[in-house]
Amino acid sequence: MRPLIGTNWKMNLTSTEADGWFQAFLPLVDRLDDRDLFVLPPFTAIWIARERLRDTPVGWGAQDVFPEDEGAHTGNISAPMLADLGCRYVMVGHAERRRDHGETPELISTKAAAALRWGMRPIVCLGEHLRSAPDETMRFLVEDLAGCLSAVDPADLPRVVIAYEPHWAMGEGAVAAPPEEVGMIHRALAAWLAERPGGAAVPIIYGGSVDLPAAARMLSEPGVGGLFVGRYALDPVNFARIAGAGAVRQGAIL
Ligand code: PEP
Repeated sequence: MRPLIGTNWKMNLTSTEADGWFQAFLPLVDRLDDRDLFVLPPFTAIWIARERLRDTPVGWGAQDVFPEDEGAHTGNISAPMLADLGCRYVMVGHAERRRDHGETPELISTKAAAALRWGMRPIVCLGEHLRSAPDETMRFLVEDLAGCLSAVDPADLPRVVIAYEPHWAMGEGAVAAPPEEVGMIHRALAAWLAERPGGAAVPIIYGGSVDLPAAARMLSEPGVGGLFVGRYALDPVNFARIAGAGAVRQGAIL
């Protein structure tokens, strides 16, 4: 499977700033052809992503979606609106959405189903709150994942992406989880998915305080299908370096 490496900008960068980010980023990654890259700007900058990325292999998408397609839901953004902007990915269930909006696995699942209905790939985020023993972590993750997939048509499973993002390893002041622990969790999640038709095709990417040293170590861990980068990627040069981490072709990195 090709590594899948993306960034969630969270609530950062205006559309003007986003334009500068893309202009700095794109020349740095134009020789990377052995991996898939994506960027999730805030809703207000998705149109800039479309302008700057439409003739490149880099995908773009949204940080959230409303489960219904249209109607009296003031302030929300629907899947057809995102599909119309060319989004390839829609993140659902991010830790900060769960924290700030009380999102439940069942709601997250209806959002994933909406993205799939409109031809986009949902990136389903999961992660335990506190660091705990691997068995306990897996019990929690599997229950959460089953809930987050409950409204997804099993035939659509191969189009889902899972982002394992332990909450304790994310955000200001945190450090990335140890790669060998991440690898163990990813392989256990992959085994759970492989028991479902099409589940072996689901990439599992890691997010949580990924910086350049962590990126290279995570990508060499069996089971880690890619990376999801938050604050470190707000600098386009940093994200370009992570995007090129471990690239096979000599000279493909900055
Ligand atoms: C995220 O928000 O998805 C994330 C991984 O954040 P950070 O890299 O800043 O920990």
